[in-house]
Amino acid sequence: MKAMVLNAVTDLKENVRPLTLVSIPDPVPVQGEVLIRVSTCGVCHTELDEIEGRTPPSRFPMVLGHQVVGRIEMLGPGVTKHHPGDRVGIAWIYSACGKCRYCREGNENLCPDFKATGRDVFGGYAEYMTVHEDYAFPIPEVFTDEEAAPLLCAGAIGYRSIRLAGLFGLDPEVRIPDPGSRCFTPFAVTMMPDNSFNRKSDIVNHKLHLGLTGFGASAHLALKMIRHLWPEMKVYVFARNQSEREFALELGAAWAGDTTDAPPEKLDAIIDTTPVWKPVVEALKYLKPGGRLVINAIRKEEIDKEYLLHLHYPEHLWMEKEIKSVANVAGSDVREFLKLAAEIPIKPEVQLYPLEDANIALLELKQQKIRGAKVLKI
Ligand SMILES: [Zn+2]
Ligand SMILES: [Zn+2]
Repeated sequence: MKAMVLNAVTDLKENVRPLTLVSIPDPVPVQGEVLIRVSTCGVCHTELDEIEGRTPPSRFPMVLGHQVVGRIEMLGPGVTKHHPGDRVGIAWIYSACGKCRYCREGNENLCPDFKATGRDVFGGYAEYMTVHEDYAFPIPEVFTDEEAAPLLCAGAIGYRSIRLAGLFGLDPEVRIPDPGSRCFTPFAVTMMPDNSFNRKSDIVNHKLHLGLTGFGASAHLALKMIRHLWPEMKVYVFARNQSEREFALELGAAWAGDTTDAPPEKLDAIIDTTPVWKPVVEALKYLKPGGRLVINAIRKEEIDKEYLLHLHYPEHLWMEKEIKSVANVAGSDVREFLKLAAEIPIKPEVQLYPLEDANIALLELKQQKIRGAKVLKI
């Protein structure tokens, strides 16, 4: 099969063609796996982190790509959940041990044996890939292959950020954490037994004030989800660019200001989707007592790290304020987000490239030449 591979970590400023087109043997599905004929694969910022070594592949050569849509071509032995011809998506979560405490709790994104698609195992910048049937997610019919691909990363992680901000579980019964538990997971249950979203806390949520700092792909999907789930909730957006602030207001934000602007009221939770530190320090200032800042970033950049010296304990952290990062995604995040995205529906704007032009797509992403989500058509 044809695949675009990364052979080593490299600097995109000096090397504008980090990936090489090669022909490699077709993968063969083993026990529990399905073989997928890839149709589309989204191009994500995390690929830039992999290429430039901030989160490097665990081996080389590596086929990148973790927003994969395709049809099942062949079933490996023991597969029961899918049939040949089914359309499925594959996200950042490729596999986890299934046995450890985190896996048993449904937080397999924290598993010590977590494997990421396109970083630890060959991903979707290729004609075929294999994956365990549990991590091949059915794609709702409302989406085309092109539309579904970019949802599989930014959308699912945005959904997890909302969970971690506590917005699904802010009623008194579930908000109280178990002080003996090392892992704070009162928000793990977001789906109700009848498979609807947990809106039990609607009344509470209408009075909540949520902040979003940074307003890129993930944040704008988060805003759309929140507006759909809890239309009355007030959302405050901090963004550097005027155009982003206008876009946030168009999508229903109650207020939009610059990173350092004071919102009209203090906030219960803030989700940070920026790659830098200034918004973290600034956001902490505007949290209510007991409020939580959720950092949704796989890596933070070093460029403004000295801004952390602005941290003033009484103003930024005192009064039981919390900081929580978002790591990877669990299978339930992808499944539940796809259902929610179809319900809203969220239809991303996409820009298509042939597989052979993956380097062009990556370079344009690096240079922030963004007109919609970039998707490889294979
Ligand atoms: Zn595990
Ligand atoms: Zn991604």
